[in-house]
Amino acid sequence: MDAVSNLSRAADWLREAENIVVFSGAGVSAESGIPTFRDEGGVWDRFPPEQFATPSGLLATAARQPHRVAEFIIGLLEPIAEAAPNAAHLAVAELEKHAGVTVVTQNIDGLHHDAGSTTVWEVHGSVFQIVDQAGRQLRRVSRSDLRAVVDALRQTLADGFQLDQARQAVRPVLDFGPQGYCRPDIVLFGEAMAEPAWTKAREASEECDCMLIVGTSGAVYPAAMLPEQAKSAGANIIAVGPERCFCDLWLRGTAGAVLPALLKLVSGQGT
Ligand code: NAD
Repeated sequence: MDAVSNLSRAADWLREAENIVVFSGAGVSAESGIPTFRDEGGVWDRFPPEQFATPSGLLATAARQPHRVAEFIIGLLEPIAEAAPNAAHLAVAELEKHAGVTVVTQNIDGLHHDAGSTTVWEVHGSVFQIVDQAGRQLRRVSRSDLRAVVDALRQTLADGFQLDQARQAVRPVLDFGPQGYCRPDIVLFGEAMAEPAWTKAREASEECDCMLIVGTSGAVYPAAMLPEQAKSAGANIIAVGPERCFCDLWLRGTAGAVLPALLKLVSGQGT
């Protein structure tokens, strides 16, 4: 089937569906300037996950090379601090005019919320939610709070990196010392999925008629089992992205190009 008939078949499935789950990954935010982790030149190339994305790896790196952790935090937070929703996030929010839509995202960047989607389950948590050691919510921070942390950390690196200065810089989002413990509520490798988001995401995946997967490799488990679960429950599975993943119908292309075109067809404005 060619690209045009794939798009129109996907639009038919979405139009016929009463309950749609949009399952998104890092690729949906790539066009907002937030790099994916896995793609070439992505975060994992510069910061290997075994050193930066597990609790024990991160602590070991912090003890041996604290300035590298500062660089990692800047690399993670700066693009998110600067980001705004792109055409793909906005199209997902618009889809609610046509059906019940539940957004299940692996992203921590808050962009589906900012685009106006009303039901968003962040299964890997949110960088804006700061929690204590027991996972209790302490406060929410804003994009400009993240910007301030990044600027202060950059200053410590420019000053020759002093640990005390760096700890002071990150304190609004991260602290391990006697003055308290806090961290962003994001799921590192080996940690439990965010709740209640994960339970809600599994329920929604079992109940949907159509799942629209956007910008995910399907390599990160357990999140990647949701499309298989939706398929077993009878849903049609559409995937959007440059690489094929588990799906019935693949719309090849970037999220920012494909989703607005798809939305036009769903709302009867396309050709
Ligand atoms: P991933 O496994 O979801 O892979 C990214 C996918 O996006 C790839 O398949 C890639 O081909 C695709 N992609 C790249 N550009 C695209 C575009 N313009 N449009 C559509 N698809 C595009 O994610 P990952 O990068 O391996 O990250 C792993 C985990 O790290 C995520 O599940 C998430 O929890 C976290 N993460 C979050 C963010 C964020 O919040 N924006 C960014 C990076 C990573």
